[in-house]
Amino acid sequence: MSLVNYDSSTSESDIDNKDLSPPTKKSKQSLQRFQLPVSILKFSGTKNVTDDVVIDEPEKHDGRIRNFKHERGNWATYIYVPVNSSLLDEVQQQLQFAFKSLELQTTNDLHISLSRTVVLQYHLIDSFVKSLKTHFTNWSSFTVSLRDLKIYSNEEKTRTFIAYVVDSFYFEKLYHLLLKVDSVMEDYGLPIFYDDPSFHISFLWCLGDKVDVLNSNLKKILDILSQNNDSDILKIKINELKCKSGNKEFTFKLK
Ligand code: AMP
Repeated sequence: MSLVNYDSSTSESDIDNKDLSPPTKKSKQSLQRFQLPVSILKFSGTKNVTDDVVIDEPEKHDGRIRNFKHERGNWATYIYVPVNSSLLDEVQQQLQFAFKSLELQTTNDLHISLSRTVVLQYHLIDSFVKSLKTHFTNWSSFTVSLRDLKIYSNEEKTRTFIAYVVDSFYFEKLYHLLLKVDSVMEDYGLPIFYDDPSFHISFLWCLGDKVDVLNSNLKKILDILSQNNDSDILKIKINELKCKSGNKEFTFKLK
């Protein structure tokens, strides 16, 4: 799989060879007046379309159930803060052992999401990335800490996640970044993040809705975590953001 990287210092000419600029007006009102290209697909969140054949192959994506139709030209796209993935190796293994019956899976690429997974058409990727790059220019690196745990499920309740939550003190910093991401999403007619964003690092997940089971075992989970860590606080330096679109990966370095 080839990974294409360009960071915020990438020359404009690499991505500026087509006139694919999105509309510049950002308010929802002005967006409504802008005629969206028919090729921009809205993420539906469900798969109720009965005349579309949805072929899902869970074994090809960690057992995850795809929530949009896989079609040539539609690229699953998301924006996130990458996190060193070996950081939680030990606690992942210990919790997998302690909760064998849940068949917990490790999250391979630890991250803090700044977007939902949306569907972007291939020919719009370059201008979408260029737009993100514009918004992240001049942003300074910063550190966040995480100490509390929270159990999440996806909207379809087909997967449950164990996650560290970013401390509330740092919420606003990430929220400002999120607003930039949301504005690009809106420009492209794509869904923005949750109304009540909760920034977190999921490090284990399992199939099905196991929120209640895991919540009732939170104390046991916390005990295992505290036996493992010298300090109960994780500190993450945020010095870059990434956008993944299909098999392409774009990096935006912060100052
Ligand atoms: P992630 O680790 O970013 O992939 O997130 C794990 C799951 O948390 C996703 O499937 C989200 O749908 C879910 N989630 C539920 N509520 C929220 C929220 N308020 N903010 C962010 N993610 C959420």
